[in-house]
Amino acid sequence: MLVDTTSILQDAQKNRYAVAAFSVYSLETAQAAINVANREKNPVILAVGERYFSSVDVEGFASFIQTVAQKTTAPIALHLDHAYQKQSILRAIRSGFTSVMYDGSSFSFEENVRLTKDMAEIAHLAGVSIEAEIGSLAKGAFSDEEEGNGILTDPRLAEEFVNETNVDFLAAAIGTVHGMYVTKPKIDLKRLEQIRERVHVPLVLHGGSDTPDEILKQVIERGICKINVNTEISMEAVSFLTRQLNDKPGLHLSVIMEEMQEVIENSMTRFVRLFSNI
Ligand SMILES: [Zn+2]
Repeated sequence: MLVDTTSILQDAQKNRYAVAAFSVYSLETAQAAINVANREKNPVILAVGERYFSSVDVEGFASFIQTVAQKTTAPIALHLDHAYQKQSILRAIRSGFTSVMYDGSSFSFEENVRLTKDMAEIAHLAGVSIEAEIGSLAKGAFSDEEEGNGILTDPRLAEEFVNETNVDFLAAAIGTVHGMYVTKPKIDLKRLEQIRERVHVPLVLHGGSDTPDEILKQVIERGICKINVNTEISMEAVSFLTRQLNDKPGLHLSVIMEEMQEVIENSMTRFVRLFSNI
């Protein structure tokens, strides 16, 4: 069933686990995430990035997800990931998304507060929860995200940001990157503890891909409730497709897509188990 994203995250915060937010941009990725939630009896967040709006019919995709989610017993949330335009936020709200993310992290602190506060007011008037970001992730390898500057979140500013903007959950930069790491990951756990002390809304970690399991467990212990995963799943699916196309030319596309969905489901299942078994 489709539920409010905040209710999923508040339960995670209370019971000290994290919910996976998987990027979805096709029928296979969306079905995979919902099937995994259902099989694992675990909540899952389906995240549609604004950058996919050019290739995905957002309204149609949202209705598809809502219909499939209604057939499940596991809690499913539909989230707009990294939106930079007010228009995208309005489109997602109208399409029945349960939460939106406004990303003003490339602006100055004051400008980010001003713009995020405005978006939060709109979202809340529509009964939709909102995530925002302070600090910014660097871009690693194989990511399809925008470039980031890699500035880690200042705990004091994070507190002020949440108080000023009234956002429901906060993405904090503590050293993960979007995509795969090009150097050894350096995750600032101390900083996360300081942010947790000052910020009481659920905390979000972007850049779950390629982060060692041990570190992911440690960030969950320190209060991360939502972990975004995109690139690692994409890479597993693409390497599977490459092998299939090389080994078995002539396979029907429908067969390849079905097998690819299974690969995606296996990958997602691993993350869901890792995030919930703390
Ligand atoms: Zn992100």
